[in-house]
Amino acid sequence: MLKVHILNRCPYCDGKAYLPTGKDTNAKGETYTRHTPCQMCEGTGERGKWVSLTDFLEMLNEAQCKHEHTSYRGSMHFSAGEVWDDIVEVCDDCGANLEHHTLGDFIQDEN
Ligand SMILES: [Zn+2]
Ligand SMILES: [Zn+2]
Repeated sequence: MLKVHILNRCPYCDGKAYLPTGKDTNAKGETYTRHTPCQMCEGTGERGKWVSLTDFLEMLNEAQCKHEHTSYRGSMHFSAGEVWDDIVEVCDDCGANLEHHTLGDFIQDEN
């Protein structure tokens, strides 16, 4: 099976590389938010990932698709007094889940 290595935004810190770990007080007595490097990506904000060539082609397809036709799938749920939904926007053309980051988010336009 052919595999392609891609760099993805770290899902744990969402590419921010640093995560707030709590409030602290500096020498002047001012509170500030302390940040530490994300443990998942070791402060790089990126995570390498191996995907199969089929998955990669699918991602390429999604990246090229303009997602002109989309529809919402899922529904609202009520349980134990909580309301949540699993409604996602899905592209009718390529099937991409637009709630999730796709390869297109990581391809930078040179212009
Ligand atoms: Zn991270
Ligand atoms: Zn699409």
